[in-house]
Amino acid sequence: MQSTLVRVGHLGRNCDYKGIHFDHESYEQPSPPSSIHPALFSLEDRITHEGQVRSNRTPIEVYIDGSKINDQTGSAFCVIANEAITKTWKAKLSPANTVFQAEMLALKAAIEWANTTNEDVNIWSDSESSLQALKSFNVKSKITQETQMTLLENARIRLGWVKAHIGIKGNEIADTLAKEATTDGIPASLPFPKSFLKKQLLQLSLSPWQAEWDNGETGRSVYSIIPKISNKQLHWSRECIQFATGHGPFPSNLKRFGLHSTDYCGCGEIGNPLH
Ligand SMILES: [Zn+2]
Repeated sequence: MQSTLVRVGHLGRNCDYKGIHFDHESYEQPSPPSSIHPALFSLEDRITHEGQVRSNRTPIEVYIDGSKINDQTGSAFCVIANEAITKTWKAKLSPANTVFQAEMLALKAAIEWANTTNEDVNIWSDSESSLQALKSFNVKSKITQETQMTLLENARIRLGWVKAHIGIKGNEIADTLAKEATTDGIPASLPFPKSFLKKQLLQLSLSPWQAEWDNGETGRSVYSIIPKISNKQLHWSRECIQFATGHGPFPSNLKRFGLHSTDYCGCGEIGNPLH
């Protein structure tokens, strides 16, 4: 499982695992560092984390958002000029895509749209993590790097953070649009995150184990306590383990090793852990 994870998610190679084909192109690959010179990477002062983005003229306001509801992922932005909504954009991603990816896609789409206007544009997001990623020079995500490049080409675009769910009109609209986008957005595809690959591989590895555990004949007393398998360690005490497995100082267990003459307790009942 680990070798498939490294091959497909890191080395850009395809791989078969338990009869399933994994194509590296379906998954995010670590992107080589930006080709921009650090001195030209001037995004710090164009992305503010609090308050108003200042501009001499009245800029166009764009609000973006990403959403995950009912296991569906949606991405959206809306343009507000003179108090009116002049454009909306909605995209539906795969359920395997993350909210972060949805937000980055919305940022990218909003910046590309802003490039088509010859105006000052403020883009607002309530996602700190995506704005933070956009500011960082060392990002490995391809879509983030592409967004940074587009942003660097146009100095008339500024980005800012807004607090969510406090009634900022544009933010509320973007939030609603992103939720709608999970059902009626235009289909968009982004490579799945590595965490999803890991989840898929884990599922493939664990399901035969679960089937064996469900249909097995041994360890049934433990099965009645832990029917669902997991690769997480349970920190049980020695006494709990003895009780659950029956492998302890009980007549029923001692008898099997010839350490007790009978599996009955002195009182006449079966000397099992429960007794
Ligand atoms: Zn007894």
